[in-house]
Amino acid sequence: MIIEQLKVGSLENFCYIVGDEESGQAAVVDPHGEIDRIMDLVEERKLTVRYIVNTHTHWDHVAGNEMLKKRTGASILSHPRGGVYRDGEVDHGDTISLGDLKIEVLHTPGHSPDSICLLVDKKLMTGDTLFIGECGRTDLPGGDSEKMFSSLFQVISTLGEDIEVYPGHDYGPRPSSTIGYERKHNYTLEPRTKQEFIRFMAEP
Ligand SMILES: [Zn+2]
Repeated sequence: MIIEQLKVGSLENFCYIVGDEESGQAAVVDPHGEIDRIMDLVEERKLTVRYIVNTHTHWDHVAGNEMLKKRTGASILSHPRGGVYRDGEVDHGDTISLGDLKIEVLHTPGHSPDSICLLVDKKLMTGDTLFIGECGRTDLPGGDSEKMFSSLFQVISTLGEDIEVYPGHDYGPRPSSTIGYERKHNYTLEPRTKQEFIRFMAEP
């Protein structure tokens, strides 16, 4: 299995190329921009992009969707609550197949109603739900600290300590981590009741 992490644009966005070596099929997650760079790597790895998947539809995660679709003919997939053009919907429990490789979709609202995480081969692409050392903000339109609490503590944290975390932005001291490391070192994942977490997220 191939996973490539590319930092693209000026907002520290991470775009991911997930590929199945055997079938040569790939998905590009959150193509913010720099489509030429993404395509160079896709071609170098001899992959065919079948899907463009958005972890949520804030503009910085979808800005390159159209251009990448034009270049590859790939189908754009996002959560039904998302606000931009898509060819297909993916929701909690769905899988996206690249040959025999399966990407599992987890609905993790909180940063936005349409936020999803993508789990493939013990690697979790977390979009703007969980960063290294931080979690996504919940004060933008559609944000919800109560839902973020459930997403972080009842969905993501329960996946297993050895799952690798691949965030949607390079906001931390390192580009990727593990759930075990984040549970120990990420101050947003310290044990809190739901009420405490909601108050914590409202602090300036
Ligand atoms: Zn966002």
